[in-house]
Amino acid sequence: MRLNAKRIFISAAGQGIGRASALACAAEGAHVIATDINAEALASLAAQNPRIEVHALDVRDSAAVAGFAGRQAPLDGLFNCAGFVHNGTIMDCSEADWDFSFDLNVKSMYRTIRAFLPGMLERADATGTASILNMASMASSIKGFPNRLAYGATKAAVIGLTKGVAADYVRRGLRCNALCPGTVDTPSLRGRIAAAADPVQAEKDFIARQPAGRLATVDDITPLVIYLLSDESRFVTGQVQLVDGGVTI
Ligand code: NAD
Repeated sequence: MRLNAKRIFISAAGQGIGRASALACAAEGAHVIATDINAEALASLAAQNPRIEVHALDVRDSAAVAGFAGRQAPLDGLFNCAGFVHNGTIMDCSEADWDFSFDLNVKSMYRTIRAFLPGMLERADATGTASILNMASMASSIKGFPNRLAYGATKAAVIGLTKGVAADYVRRGLRCNALCPGTVDTPSLRGRIAAAADPVQAEKDFIARQPAGRLATVDDITPLVIYLLSDESRFVTGQVQLVDGGVTI
């Protein structure tokens, strides 16, 4: 199995890409530490696969993240998946919206990486490699879309953070990559569609921006998650990995 004996932490694992990644990593032999703020979603994940260790953890809470990491054995893999889509232009984005987006989408990664990095370097010394994967996005950070001002700014920042960590630790065997999916059918995407003035048209518009002619499923994304967390990608670091159904051809 491709992740045999690896300890992998995943944030936002209650639903969507994070949950699918937790299940996929466990199926590849990883010991998965799945976290989220939604305890009910975590309970259903644990019921689906009792080998997955679940913990409520708010990645916006610095003390909670540091305390949690301090109680954990060193990680081989860290998948920072938590993120939020603010809808609107710069004129729709209050300072509070901007700060919330940066706190959840970017500073959460600063928190988890700082907290887990010493242990991950130990693992890299022992095994030759350890891997951090940060969730960015095709939408707005790579290709501009309307009404994604704060989202695009945060996801572009994730790419900068990723390259910085990659450059600082490349000689220690610690890798850091960013994942940029296209439009993925997840509960939060369904929420954005439902919240639109015309949900039927909104779904058509999301599909229309995918040249492949359909939304991605979470299962289109998890193979790249597995690859980037596994030793197969041991020579891959600082990269922006797109899985976007052709949007950026
Ligand atoms: P989602 O938005 O449906 O679920 C997000 C999960 O994050 C929820 O379970 C929620 O409880 C959890 N969460 C929210 N705040 C949290 C916090 N403070 N601490 C811990 N957990 C918290 O999932 P998704 O759509 O798969 O998105 C996951 C990531 O993928 C996000 O970073 C998103 O920006 C990114 N992404 C999504 C798409 C897409 O089309 N769905 C495309 C590209 C990138």
